[in-house]
Amino acid sequence: MHKKVFIKTFGCQMNEYDSNRIIDTVKKIGFEKTDNLEETDCYLLNTCHIRDKAKEKVYHEVGRIKKLYRDKNKPIMIVTGCVAQAENQEMLKREPYIDFVIGPQSYHKITEIIKNYNNKILSNEETDFDTIEKFNYFDKIKNNNNKISAFLTIQEGCDKFCNFCVVPYTRGPEYSRPFKKIIREAEELIKNGAKEITLLGQNVNAYSYIDNLNNYKLSDLIKELEKFSELDRIRYTTSHPRDMTDDLIECYSSSKKLMPFIHLPIQSGSNNILKLMNRKHTVEEYLNVYEKLKKINNLIEFSSDFIVSYPGETEQDFNNTIELVKKIKFINSFSFIFSPRPGTKAASLNLIDMEISKERLVKIQKYLFSHQLEMNKSLINQTIEVLVENKMKEQNKLFGRNKYLNSVIFKGDEKDIGKTIKVKIENCNQNSLFGKIENNNMKAA
Ligand code: SF4
Repeated sequence: MHKKVFIKTFGCQMNEYDSNRIIDTVKKIGFEKTDNLEETDCYLLNTCHIRDKAKEKVYHEVGRIKKLYRDKNKPIMIVTGCVAQAENQEMLKREPYIDFVIGPQSYHKITEIIKNYNNKILSNEETDFDTIEKFNYFDKIKNNNNKISAFLTIQEGCDKFCNFCVVPYTRGPEYSRPFKKIIREAEELIKNGAKEITLLGQNVNAYSYIDNLNNYKLSDLIKELEKFSELDRIRYTTSHPRDMTDDLIECYSSSKKLMPFIHLPIQSGSNNILKLMNRKHTVEEYLNVYEKLKKINNLIEFSSDFIVSYPGETEQDFNNTIELVKKIKFINSFSFIFSPRPGTKAASLNLIDMEISKERLVKIQKYLFSHQLEMNKSLINQTIEVLVENKMKEQNKLFGRNKYLNSVIFKGDEKDIGKTIKVKIENCNQNSLFGKIENNNMKAA
């Protein structure tokens, strides 16, 4: 009988990709995925360090499992992801119920660790940056993910060292996977039914792989994916403004499958703050990229990340950010009050008063949310193209996304899953569009 593994994933798309790959690998030693928390032999918690209180979330979750298994055999408890990398031994000391902490660049060791669990012959902590070895290992294991919209990691780590960010410490230095191996994995995903592929990386547009003859860039990957006739859509995330090179921008004119929606974090609209953050770009450079993209394809829309009340942010700095938000009209963004991450340069800086910070957050979100709603409302009565991803729990409702990644919900039949169909939008809220399937001969926006 197969043993069971339960995996809970916090955080970004890359963690979701990693969790799927971990499942692919533990299948090889006789485990199968379960959604039943009460019957698992191995509990894996894949963590994220980006948000506040990440560490506490982990201990809370472990406490829950402890309670649940009080009268039963304890599952093997493994914490993976960026919190595992950042906390390592600390975590094992504070919570002995955790058996192993495994950092993101050591996932290739998971099967050995589980196999040897009873012998206790392996270390409980694996947090080396073995990125090349990890990908070499996973390249030999088929990607079984069969989602219509699939993630594919092409690059990991970051060399930019923004002063507020833990990624360079938790994911390690920038590493780009070999071009041909990425294409082979894309082929597997497409064979499994993927119609949309999102290329992932902490600095995805810094992708650079050199073999004997070529220096492959993200634009080369996009061009190669474009050739797969069964693939309808290509996306990538997350980008750094400094790496939006002209060859990549050009893809928005040449590619029919690259979606006209870019998540391009800026964090602040003030050059003073960008400098304090060590972002390595100015507002003007960001606007230059924005204008180039708009010029090449006026339909492109943007989302971004904003940190409000970064230490040293004056009222004027904040107002500059608001001006930028009003100018670009981002259609979907993430905004947070600055909160220090241990081990980063910004961790020791003086915080701005919480009342002021909250007021700033409310103000920026008022603009961001109203732009999002405005965009959604502009689609009412329009017919748009939607890639249908799955059936919702609610009867007869399908879920899909338009080219700007908006959720679209409408009545339909399961046979349309995986197809790009036309939907007439009738209503919306800030996060979703609601509509009905349109006569497929009509022109879509
Ligand atoms: S570029 Fe992104 S991933 Fe790298 S340090 Fe800055 S915020 Fe973190």
